[in-house]
Amino acid sequence: MSEPVDFETRLIGLPAPPPVGRSALPVGTFMGATVLVTGGGTGLGKAIAAEFTRLGANIVVASRKREHLDAAVADLGSIAAQVSVANGVVGEAVAGPARTPPIARLSDRGEVGSGTPTGPAGNQSPGNRSPGVLAVECDIRDSDQVATVFDAAEQRFGTVDVLVNNAAANFPVPAEEMSPNAWRTVVDITLNGTFLMSREFARRHIAARVPGSIINVGASYAWTGGPGFAHSAAAKAGIKNMTETLAVEWGPYGIQVNGLVPGLMPHEDMTSDIQTNLQRTHDKDICQPALRVGQRQELGWAATFLASPYARFISGHTLVVDGANWQRRTLTNPPVVTVREQMNLGPFAP
Ligand code: NAP
Repeated sequence: MSEPVDFETRLIGLPAPPPVGRSALPVGTFMGATVLVTGGGTGLGKAIAAEFTRLGANIVVASRKREHLDAAVADLGSIAAQVSVANGVVGEAVAGPARTPPIARLSDRGEVGSGTPTGPAGNQSPGNRSPGVLAVECDIRDSDQVATVFDAAEQRFGTVDVLVNNAAANFPVPAEEMSPNAWRTVVDITLNGTFLMSREFARRHIAARVPGSIINVGASYAWTGGPGFAHSAAAKAGIKNMTETLAVEWGPYGIQVNGLVPGLMPHEDMTSDIQTNLQRTHDKDICQPALRVGQRQELGWAATFLASPYARFISGHTLVVDGANWQRRTLTNPPVVTVREQMNLGPFAP
């Protein structure tokens, strides 16, 4: 009988990343730029928005729920205030730890409410060059609401320079039990919403003749298939393909389009459905070739690189940040376990 592997002493896995708070790019790389992140009030979207904020970007967060928008304003606004002080580019407006972060948000009725006001990027008042955070209620399935987000962003900050299509919907369900409505909803949010946001961004950029960058957050089951997630996997495959198409169509207009795929990056905002599924099917670290799961700042660093001036010749590419987990294969496959068994469901009863 072979000895059990002693993971503590014999294997080292991939090194841990630097802690949250470090940036991958020079200070101020995105100072004066505006970055719109869909679903930026939770989980990985908020982590991506945080890294752009640290590098000086004005952030626009678009999603549906008030509590998520409030979380974005609070958390990103407080990072923005620290960045301003740390960069030493701000005068009296945000100096001092007790000041309200320079934030503003739209209310349900689409009015602009503001904390300590900042001017739009590019024409901010002297002495107040801290990044701003704007949260806008928007369902990305609705093209009118999508246009409203861009209008609000432009009114506040000027042109949106970077669009991060991060919002998505997902939950595990065996395909035979998936309702037509569940299929349509996930595909509508994940694939159609990504297209509508991208289309609006491109139309404005093409008309204005200014370059821009789109990052589409995907998933590795776009390549492998996603048993238990047929709706989401199909939508993410569509996003990967669309990324390649749009990069070619819009390259001549100065628009880069790239994909960004996270590996397993647990966070406290994951739905209870997905958290429960993870607990059942993963023994976390030892199931990954890296011998660890991803940390969300690692995704944020990759996003800031892809949208940065240092990646101007990268377009139509999908960057996977998962420690090679999606390529993992064994010499002999383990026994097949159906999705129903993985989810502890009984026999299918039509
Ligand atoms: P999450 O916390 O569930 O976030 C989803 C976000 O999308 C929420 O902020 C939600 O905000 C927003 N959203 C959902 N429907 C929307 C709609 N119709 N209009 C506007 N916004 C909408 O997900 P996550 O785990 O951070 O994942 C972020 C991205 O990474 C997703 O694209 C996901 O597929 C991908 N991903 C994640 C992992 C992982 O390990 N976490 C792995 C692979 C891929 P509201 O509810 O306020 O609308």
